[in-house]
Amino acid sequence: MATLLDGRRLAAEIERRLSAVIAEGLAVAGRAPGLAVLRVGDDPASGVYVANKEKACSRVGISSHGGHLAADTPAEAVLAQIRRLNADPTVDGILLQLPLPQGLAEEPLLAAIDPDKDADGLHTLNLGRLLKGERGPRSCTPAGVMALLRSADVPIAGAQAVVVGRSILVGKPMALMLQAADATVTVAHSRTHHLAEVTRQADLLVAAAGRPHLIGAVHIKPGAVVVDVGIHRLDGKLCGDVDYETVEPLAAAITPVPGGVGPMTVAMLLVNTVVAWCDRHGLDHPLADLLP
Ligand code: NAP
Repeated sequence: MATLLDGRRLAAEIERRLSAVIAEGLAVAGRAPGLAVLRVGDDPASGVYVANKEKACSRVGISSHGGHLAADTPAEAVLAQIRRLNADPTVDGILLQLPLPQGLAEEPLLAAIDPDKDADGLHTLNLGRLLKGERGPRSCTPAGVMALLRSADVPIAGAQAVVVGRSILVGKPMALMLQAADATVTVAHSRTHHLAEVTRQADLLVAAAGRPHLIGAVHIKPGAVVVDVGIHRLDGKLCGDVDYETVEPLAAAITPVPGGVGPMTVAMLLVNTVVAWCDRHGLDHPLADLLP
């Protein structure tokens, strides 16, 4: 049976570490870390995600500075809100919840977030920092995958890694982080020929294609470690990009959906916020192992 890469368990452990860091730094900082999750419009899935993030904040002692703007808010007003949060000394992290309502362009709004408060790690400057191996907030989902792999002592250096997907949100930063950890990385995408032949080379396979059950037994080298980033609702049940039933018997280790990468994404959002708070107040922190 494959080892389960349990994101829920690791996220809870990270939350305990963050609570301890906050408790220790509170006297020097004089205030708790603050995260602002900015939501525009009423996308129902976003409502659930934002609520989960705010609950996670309150569990570890991060104060939430949420804002919910109407779907018809003009871009200039959203920008003004982002600038207010940039200037607010009690806010260490800002997250603009995506997707935005139609008619609001993501790029100028994401670019307006102070890069040092970029809790999602998606600002162009922070993607550049990742590319160059410089310190900075890291994209939460791939950083969560790295933490999960490291906690299970999955060998990464020298491994043949295949990432299926090349989005800015997941695939590209994932490939960079694996490469920085000395894996030999191949990135597959929708135009890749003979996907199964490519993925069967993988000692470590990360599926981030956004296609339910795309990856089946035929795509797996026996003994591979399989990470499923995908999340879909199919026939009322959550599933990923990996067909868990057929892949699990072949894999050495695998993430479940739900309970794998999802909780790790939220945990890394908290990590980025707490690290920014520590940096702002000159506090040392023992979180370097979580920053790929
Ligand atoms: P995305 O922006 O739609 O990108 C999907 C990528 O997969 C693209 O690069 C696309 O190729 C590639 N692709 C699509 N179909 C493919 C196929 N048949 N074969 C090979 N590659 C294919 O999606 P995303 O934002 O990266 O998200 C991917 C999945 O992860 C989604 O299910 C999303 O919901 C989930 N997600 C989960 C979390 C979490 O916390 N668990 C966080 C973020 C995202 P092209 O570039 O050629 O179009």
